[in-house]
Amino acid sequence: MPSRLEQLCVEKGLRMTEQRRVIARVLSDSQDHPDVELVYKRASDVDDTISISTVYRTVRMFEENGILERHDFGDGRARYEEVSDEHHDHLINVETGQVIEFTSEKIEALQAAIAKELGFELIDHRLELYGKPLADSEIAKVTPEESVVNMRQSTIHRKDK
Ligand SMILES: [Zn+2]
Repeated sequence: MPSRLEQLCVEKGLRMTEQRRVIARVLSDSQDHPDVELVYKRASDVDDTISISTVYRTVRMFEENGILERHDFGDGRARYEEVSDEHHDHLINVETGQVIEFTSEKIEALQAAIAKELGFELIDHRLELYGKPLADSEIAKVTPEESVVNMRQSTIHRKDK
């Protein structure tokens, strides 16, 4: 079955080579917001004819077509995730680079209220929190797939794929 990203490529009318398919699949399967080096490592494990420049080009093409989102989490490495319909914000563990996804209705409402006070309708935002884990942090120990938190439920749950 084609990955979600492959599906989006087809919808956008992008010509899909086998190498692009592999790279799209790797990105769809990655929950940890990988950088290009890591995407290259994972893609070349599947197909060792894939070069890092192919990964760079493909990632840029996906980004330009609005199906891949680029993040700068403050360490100078561009990191990527597939564009999703559901909004989330990020918390970055500065000790490990781990990225935790979360949503908070309080923050969403507050941002909309601030924009309105300033005379705007909020249409988008980006929020990144940077932190060091507390000694008893459970989430700092979990895998990227589990690093998704809904602040309202205050529970850690798996991201639906
Ligand atoms: Zn994310």
